[in-house]
Amino acid sequence: MSIDEPEDDSPETQRARLILSLRSQGVSEPLVLNALEQTPRDLFTPKLFQERAWEDSALPIACGQTISQPFIVGLMTQALTIEPRARVLEIGTGSGYQTAVLSRLARLVYTIERYRTLMGEAEARFKQLQLGNIITRFGDGGEGWPEQAPFDRILVTAAAPAEPKTLLSQLKPSGILVAPVGRGPIQTLKRYLGDGKGGFREEVLCDVRFVPLLDGVAREL
Ligand code: SAH
Repeated sequence: MSIDEPEDDSPETQRARLILSLRSQGVSEPLVLNALEQTPRDLFTPKLFQERAWEDSALPIACGQTISQPFIVGLMTQALTIEPRARVLEIGTGSGYQTAVLSRLARLVYTIERYRTLMGEAEARFKQLQLGNIITRFGDGGEGWPEQAPFDRILVTAAAPAEPKTLLSQLKPSGILVAPVGRGPIQTLKRYLGDGKGGFREEVLCDVRFVPLLDGVAREL
């Protein structure tokens, strides 16, 4: 398609095109592609941006936050190598889009958000989609969820300023944590693989742009 051709395709066509594009960019795991295909991104996208819901780009949501780019959601989900029995912790629920994708692959997904408004909206979407294996919490995700630890997998969807030590301590010995790490506007997506003996091997995946992981809960809604 040429760039100036109008994009008046049906949402189904746009969705199929997005999935093909993600595959061509390296999201190749069939279960991950299937989870993305099953998750209606338009439901997680604000009204103002509905016609862009199937674009491969991050979009603004309430509270000055963003819904992640589908390619990055696919990449991070694939990097976690989730098994069906896994219990996954996600930090930064936001719109709930990434959470919904995880919920189609894992047994249980625990998700934490520091904005009450975003948490409420995401909870309503999970209910609408009948995603019964998501457990939500309003709080500071930087502290993790000690009562439910250890987790098989942890995904951080906001940029941690440095190695997320508290969260790594809540991972099973052979678990995997994926997080954007860095203080600037561009961060490094990192994967920490537990060595089974309390240590970690660190891998650099790519450059990413995420909103920062902030301390404490938001005082505003
Ligand atoms: N995965 C989300 C991305 C949301 S952006 C989606 O696809 O929509 C990152 C989210 O992390 C924001 O909603 C932000 O409020 C949240 N966040 C930032 N710091 C946090 C913290 N310490 N605890 C919990 N959530 C946090």
